[in-house]
Amino acid sequence: MSESGKILLVTGGSRGIGAATCRLAAKAGYRIAVNYASNVRAAETVVAAIEAGGGEAVAVRGDIGSETDVLAMFEAVDARFGGLDALVNNAGVVDSLSRVDEMSFARLERMMRINVIGPMLCAREAVKRMSTRHGGKGGAVVNLSSIAARLGGAGQYVDYAASKNAINTFSVGLAREVAGEGIRVNIVSPGIIDTEIHASGGQPDRAEKMGRVVPMQRAGTAEEVAAAILWLLSDKASYTTGAILEVGGGR
Ligand code: NAP
Repeated sequence: MSESGKILLVTGGSRGIGAATCRLAAKAGYRIAVNYASNVRAAETVVAAIEAGGGEAVAVRGDIGSETDVLAMFEAVDARFGGLDALVNNAGVVDSLSRVDEMSFARLERMMRINVIGPMLCAREAVKRMSTRHGGKGGAVVNLSSIAARLGGAGQYVDYAASKNAINTFSVGLAREVAGEGIRVNIVSPGIIDTEIHASGGQPDRAEKMGRVVPMQRAGTAEEVAAAILWLLSDKASYTTGAILEVGGGR
């Protein structure tokens, strides 16, 4: 398989879509750095499952909203694997349901720091390692957006929706910037996916409830999103860059 031995960093690889991506990528032959923010047990569980399947993985702590942590995370990946072929900018957060006229500065700053600046910093570090302009051998980046970027999140989390549209624009621009340097940059934009992110925003039953109003009448699974991510990372998507692949059951 062409992915065999390639090195992949997944931010937020400890749970949800990131964890499913790590597991699927390991089966495709990638060696994987599983980033997490605080849940070391979840990250170690993903690593153990990959190793039990004969794969290679390492858990790397780091808050992507901190430049110090991002630099240390990439250095840890360099030290362990000696290179980088692929990055999945997956880590992201939501906040509690809120109207814009109720949003604090602290909330907005956290949202933009983790959901926008973090992925930009990670992409910067990945490009430094992958770009042929910097002596690298090319690579692939997939950034996680959301269908909320198109819908706007009115009355719920306009800040989150706006952060994801920033990722869309950033990804399209970066894709064009590095297309001649061996790097493809694409976007996976999930709809309602059954993960713990909804509970973290105070709505543990959101996937089940909202799933009913999706045209396919159900929430998606983390594995269904991971499959789209893996395709965009792979050489099967060799002429695809700057694309937004929606995985939303028709939403
Ligand atoms: P999740 O289940 O809440 O998992 C979040 C992951 O991100 C965890 O591994 C968490 O690490 C990590 N993380 C959170 N903040 C971080 C930080 N500051 N630095 C590094 N890692 C951090 O989320 P998910 O549902 O899988 O979502 C993954 C991505 O898909 C996000 O970008 C999200 O916006 C997007 N998305 C999700 C849905 C959905 O319905 N689920 C829909 C559209 C888009 P710890 O385990 O250490 O906490």
